[in-house]
Amino acid sequence: TVFDGKCGGLVIQLREVRFHYAIEGVSSKEWVLSGLNLSIPSGEYVAVMGPNGSGKSTMARMLNGLLVPTGGQVLIDGLDTRNDEALWEIRQRVGMVFQNPDNQIVATTVRDDIAFGLENRGMPREEMIPRIEEVIAEVGLDGLEETPPHHLSGGQKQRLAIAGVIAMRPRVVVFDEATSMLDPTGRGEVLEAIRRLHEGGTTIVHITHSADEALEAERIMIMAGGRLQLEGTPAEVFSRAEALSRWSLDVPFHVKLREGLIRRGMPLSEKTANTEELVEELW
Ligand code: ADP
Repeated sequence: TVFDGKCGGLVIQLREVRFHYAIEGVSSKEWVLSGLNLSIPSGEYVAVMGPNGSGKSTMARMLNGLLVPTGGQVLIDGLDTRNDEALWEIRQRVGMVFQNPDNQIVATTVRDDIAFGLENRGMPREEMIPRIEEVIAEVGLDGLEETPPHHLSGGQKQRLAIAGVIAMRPRVVVFDEATSMLDPTGRGEVLEAIRRLHEGGTTIVHITHSADEALEAERIMIMAGGRLQLEGTPAEVFSRAEALSRWSLDVPFHVKLREGLIRRGMPLSEKTANTEELVEELW
């Protein structure tokens, strides 16, 4: 039977996950994920960082069964992604937002684009119409219902992609470098949409190269070499300067500024959690 585990509120569990790609039908010997263990409780906001090629996108594609593990287990609410019968349910529960907003848009107006996914799921029209209005408001695209998506800014397009995903009311939304092609305004808009989703109780997995974006999360996971290397609160993770530089990872602006000031003889405390705290201390 498919187990709908409310197991301590855990939504995502990866147990000893191993994975390698098959290239032209020949399976590669190289493990992209080499014994990855992680759990994410329901409602948590997690950021995932790691060098290029560390397996972040591969891990993301495991979470809704786009890829299935070669070894080990991926469980979503206790549902195993290798169980074909559970796959449809898993895809309802886990939404994905990718890097390039242009690749995620299918219709000729904002409203039709959101409707497309719902129609595919067979949602009745009387349910669909109010649902579309709700998600348009949630991502702040009110007034743009009839706009052709190619007239939207990058940030608006990515918010449209988010609307299409959250229209299915998933429990988890995975953002795979969903801000990396956007300008600062667009990034800010998408981060705000993510924040609101989290406040509404959705579990967030946000893959990003930006330390300042990762600061928004409750927990940061660092992946390297196909494994989880380090995890903790943003304050914990960003106090590990040596580890972060080993993996060539970005550190938040306030950390760089604090270090620069200390080098110039400013007597500052060891840790500040964000730019605001640093400014407080300097004041
Ligand atoms: P990240 O998201 O951390 O940059 P990826 O999961 O994209 O890492 O990639 C991990 C490794 O898997 C890389 O070495 C990459 O070249 C390889 N890889 C990714 N996608 C494919 C694919 N479709 N076929 C073969 N190898 C792939």
